[in-house]
Amino acid sequence: MKNPEASIPATHPSPYFVRFDIEGLKRLIETLKQEGYEVLGPTVRDGAIVIEPIESVSQLPCGVGDEQSGGRYRLTQRSDRSRFGYAVGPTSWKRFLFPPNRLLWRATQHERGFSVETPPVDSQRRAFVGVRGCDLAAIRIQDRVFCGGANPDPDYVSRRKQTFIVAVECGSPVQTCFCTSMGTGPAIGDGFDIRLTEIPDGENPYYLGLAGSEYGAQLLSQIDAIQVNESEFAERNAILASAAAQITRHLDPDHARAVILENPEHSRWDEVASRCLTCGNCTQVCPTCFCSTVDDVTDLTTGVAERSRRWDSCFTMEHSHVHGGAVRRSPRSRYRQWLSHKLGSWWEQFGTAGCSGCGRCIVWCPVGIDLTEEVAYLATKRDAPPEDAP
Ligand code: SF4
Ligand code: SF4
Repeated sequence: MKNPEASIPATHPSPYFVRFDIEGLKRLIETLKQEGYEVLGPTVRDGAIVIEPIESVSQLPCGVGDEQSGGRYRLTQRSDRSRFGYAVGPTSWKRFLFPPNRLLWRATQHERGFSVETPPVDSQRRAFVGVRGCDLAAIRIQDRVFCGGANPDPDYVSRRKQTFIVAVECGSPVQTCFCTSMGTGPAIGDGFDIRLTEIPDGENPYYLGLAGSEYGAQLLSQIDAIQVNESEFAERNAILASAAAQITRHLDPDHARAVILENPEHSRWDEVASRCLTCGNCTQVCPTCFCSTVDDVTDLTTGVAERSRRWDSCFTMEHSHVHGGAVRRSPRSRYRQWLSHKLGSWWEQFGTAGCSGCGRCIVWCPVGIDLTEEVAYLATKRDAPPEDAP
C-alpha cells in the first residue's frame, strides 16, 4: 500500500516539468474537451466541493477553502484565488468508475418467450481533473478489486482504460486527513497522466505540471508553458512539506491490522456500537468500499424485467442475509466487520489496506466516529471495561 514515491522528492525537475498560469489550465481543459473527453472536476454545490462535469475553468472553485472535523464540514473563504485550495469533499471518483446504480440486464416478454439484452460497457472518455494523492491511491485499491482476479468487472475495466488523470498535489490538508500515515500524499509520485501543483501566489495562482504519460506530455506541449526552474521546484517542495507538517492525525497500517485482528471480542466494539447509527454514510463516502447488491424489478403491464446493481453497505442488515436471516444483526458486529475488513482482512484479500487516509468517513459520520481513534483505543487499552472509555 505504501507508495514511497509519495514522499517529497529532492531531485532536480524532470524535462517534462512545466509552469503555466490559469490560461494554461483553461487551455488544458479545452483541449481535453476537443479530444472527446467528458471533463470532471471539483465545483461548489450546496455548500460543499463536489465532483461534477465541467465545461470550463470558470466552474472550478475560486478562493474557496474548507474546515473539516468529525461530523463537521464547512467551506471557507481564502485570501487568494486558488482553484484547488481545499481537501477532498464528500464525493470521490468512485462514482464514475463504479457507478452507484447500473443496469445489468433487461428481459422483455414476447408472444413466444422473452429476449434478454445487456447494456454495453461504458466507453466514454473521461478526464478526472483534481485527483488528490489519497484518491489516486483509492483508485489503485479499487483497480485490484475490479480489474484483478479471475472475474474482472468489464464495465469498470472499460471505464478505467478511458480515464485520463490530472492529479493535483495537496497544499491545504484538513484536520481529518491522514494520508502521510498511509503513504498516499500529500505529494504524488505516480499513477497520473499529468500532475499539477498549484502555487497560490495571491490573485494569480500558477501551476507546475509534470507529465506522467506520453499523452500527458503531448497535451502539456500544446499549452503556453515554460520549463520549471529551481526556485519554483523549491517552492513546490516547501508547500508540500508544510502540508505534510499540518497533518497531525496518524494511523500505523501495519499496527492497526494486528491490533484489530487480535481483538475481535474487545469491549470497545460495544462502546462504539452504542454511538454508531448504522447509517452506512462512512461506506458511501469511502472511495474504496465496493459492496453492492442487486435489485430486480418486474413490470407486469409491459412485460419487462430488469436487474440492476446498486451500492450496498456492510451496515445494512440485508447485506449479511443468508439462508435463515442476517448473520450480522447487531451494530457491534456490523461496525466490527467494516473496520476489520478495511484495515485487517483486506490485506489477505488484496495485499493492501482498504484505506487511503482520505478522512471522509470521519467527516461524514453524523456522530463523528473516527477510525483512527478506535484503532488507538484498541491498541492502548486492550480488554479495558467499557467504563474506562474516554
Ligand atoms: S476508510 Fe475512511 S479514511 Fe479510509 S479511505 Fe475510506 S473513507 Fe477514507
Ligand atoms: S460509523 Fe458513523 S457513518 Fe458509519 S454507520 Fe456508524 S454512524 Fe453511520
